[in-house]
Amino acid sequence: MDETLLMLPGPTNVAPRVLQAIAKNVVNHRSAIFGEIYTEVTKMMSELFKTQNKSYLLTGSGTAAMEASIANIVNKNDKILNVIGGKFGERLRDITLAYDGDAKELNVEWGTTVSPKQIKEALDEDENIKAITVVHNETSTGVAAPIEEIGKVVKDYNALYIVDTVSSLGGDHVDVDKYNIDICFTGSQKCLAAPPGMSAITLSEDAWKVIDSVNSNTYYLDMKKYKKFGAGTPPETPYTPSITLIYGIHEALKMIEEEGIDNRVLRHETAAEATINGAKALGLELFPKKEVSSATVTALKIPEGVSDSDLRGTMRNQYKVELAGGQDHLKGNIFRIGHMGNINYKQLAITFSALGMTLKKLGFDIDAGAGVSAVTKSYL
Ligand SMILES: *Cc1c(COP(=O)(O)O)cnc(C)c1O
Repeated sequence: MDETLLMLPGPTNVAPRVLQAIAKNVVNHRSAIFGEIYTEVTKMMSELFKTQNKSYLLTGSGTAAMEASIANIVNKNDKILNVIGGKFGERLRDITLAYDGDAKELNVEWGTTVSPKQIKEALDEDENIKAITVVHNETSTGVAAPIEEIGKVVKDYNALYIVDTVSSLGGDHVDVDKYNIDICFTGSQKCLAAPPGMSAITLSEDAWKVIDSVNSNTYYLDMKKYKKFGAGTPPETPYTPSITLIYGIHEALKMIEEEGIDNRVLRHETAAEATINGAKALGLELFPKKEVSSATVTALKIPEGVSDSDLRGTMRNQYKVELAGGQDHLKGNIFRIGHMGNINYKQLAITFSALGMTLKKLGFDIDAGAGVSAVTKSYL
């Protein structure tokens, strides 16, 4: 067993009981027994999304759900407003283009987020915008967007409100119905803390109206088929799903239920606070402003005089702690500490103990224990 601690914004550390759950027998996916599991897991997903609408499971990582959210609602040249402040915002634009949508970009500087006012202005400017995509937690920059406030704006327009909660659902506040979200989705390997390979999506009545009017080009991700098969007796998926991973997600969702979502979000917020405090104590600087910094992943500037590969390489090779790097123009400039899923003081104490030793080794004149001390104080 590799004991490397994953302090990543996915994949995250999977609990032993979840690993045990996926070791169960594979069953027929066209059977009552599978129907029961599928019904239960999709119900639990809707509860976690906080929606009265049905949820669906897709076999494919979070990007499959991103693609489904666009592919099912876009006809050629339909205008989609893509809010972009990092890698995942860009990906939703790229998917829009891949399905021949007319992508209208609302760009914000990486490390900042969009304001509801900017959204309102963009929607006022063009009444033909069919949908808007927002990434709740822009994992590439460690920034959270105000999805509740944006929802209050979008509600007054015809546009569908699509929100990517891949790196936030189960770690930050998400309330699909209250925020007026039409399409929301997540992945298995982030805050849910199940293994990678599956995603879940939920769609509103308004979304289904649009979907029914679109002649979609997607085959595997055609949500009409998922709806039809999901309503069957027994409920099924159109194609063979990863039955094994569904067992894992089931167990992971049970863990979330046992903890309670409010406790879980609070645990993530505390971990974020502890991470920021630990980093500051080691002389590290936060990449985004603290007010918009994510509850599930913290992006930090790589200090001058050290390279990304020295920093993360030492953490990985000497201390068996895996951290994430920066992407695109942030590569080499920032690194990211994921604290999503099963992260508590224990993992953060190990991480900051290792980070202190790493920086000391790399020649920084610091108190190597200052980070872990600050983390400890954050939990008192
Ligand atoms: C991880 C992630 C995704 C999906 O990525 P996959 O690697 O396909 O699971 C989408 N959006 C955000 C914000 C993410 O963090």
